[in-house]
Amino acid sequence: MNRFGKVTILFSVLLVFTGLAIYLYNLSFGLLLLPVVLWLLTVAAGVFFIGMNLFMNCKNRLEGRDSSVALTFDDGPSEQTERILDILKKHGIKATFFVVGKNIQGKEAVIKRMAEEGHEIGNHTLNHSGFFPFKKRGEMAEEIERTNRLINEITGKTPELFRPPFGVTNPNVAFAVRKTGMKCTGWSLRSLDTVISNPGRLLKRLKRKTKKGDVVLLHDNREVTLQILDEYILFLIKHK
Ligand SMILES: [Zn+2]
Repeated sequence: MNRFGKVTILFSVLLVFTGLAIYLYNLSFGLLLLPVVLWLLTVAAGVFFIGMNLFMNCKNRLEGRDSSVALTFDDGPSEQTERILDILKKHGIKATFFVVGKNIQGKEAVIKRMAEEGHEIGNHTLNHSGFFPFKKRGEMAEEIERTNRLINEITGKTPELFRPPFGVTNPNVAFAVRKTGMKCTGWSLRSLDTVISNPGRLLKRLKRKTKKGDVVLLHDNREVTLQILDEYILFLIKHK
């Protein structure tokens, strides 16, 4: 049973005990709302925080004694992905790119280069729609499979890793991931490179927050990410 099932059972038991307490001690029926609201809050948190692993197990950090840091780049390929690849190549660093299927057309050479240079290519859905979590689970699985096919046609390899858009998960996303045989990947450190546009601020934040074993969420379509990457990698190498 996944955590969602366990949490639901736990709150159901709490609901029964609350009902019993209301009956025995002549308390207000409004108290019944308490376990329901708590359950709803827990589920809502699980939807938005992939690290809670509420609906499925996602790999959110490097395990064991691995002292390295994993760099992951979402939402590409973009106009500047090649320049990101140049920086990674300069330092001999391998990263994971969670690519969006619809962005591949016209950038097949970039995908090919990622694979040739030893980077891992993950699946980040076909459309990266904000409505992805609301789709039917069959449609979700179809989006994942179509993106896998697009990547396979270029690299000859089918991606194994999947990262849900915005890190939003629910029982349907969990089903689609299971059905397509993907491994869900989250992160332990959000760079916030989609929010922070000042390179100095972003770099400072990353330097302060990065810990050994972190899976760092970056975006290869953000200018600020390109601006700080070289210096961030130098920092990571120095503090290894
Ligand atoms: Zn994304």
